[in-house]
Amino acid sequence: MTDQAEPTMITALARGARCTCPHCGEGQLFRKFLKVADKCNVCGQDLHHHRADDMPAYVVMSIVGHIVVGLVLWTEINYSWPVWLHLTVWLPLTVVLTLALLQPVKGFIAALQWALRMHGFGESRGALAAVAVHS
Ligand SMILES: [Zn+2]
Repeated sequence: MTDQAEPTMITALARGARCTCPHCGEGQLFRKFLKVADKCNVCGQDLHHHRADDMPAYVVMSIVGHIVVGLVLWTEINYSWPVWLHLTVWLPLTVVLTLALLQPVKGFIAALQWALRMHGFGESRGALAAVAVHS
């Protein structure tokens, strides 16, 4: 377990978006693609308190939707692509962007909940600090 100062909100969010532990920034936040690890494998921070639920999917849909729909409208207005070309370009781009953003967005949301001490993160962070002081 590492003995380190609490990170700032911005630091914790950046660590979450990089899919690392919001507390230490070194341990892996995920044990599978979208499964958050129960504990950090470096500092021991409990991570199972997160309750991201469907929020990462909603955020990713909003981001990808704005990008793809904007590009579709822009190309349609400026180049009048045929439908087959739209489907060939935008469907794969939608899938790739969605898969690329899901994990960082979920990490960001889990880190936000950690930084705001939501859903039991406050108690576990207090217990972690107490262990660090006594060890
Ligand atoms: Zn950690």
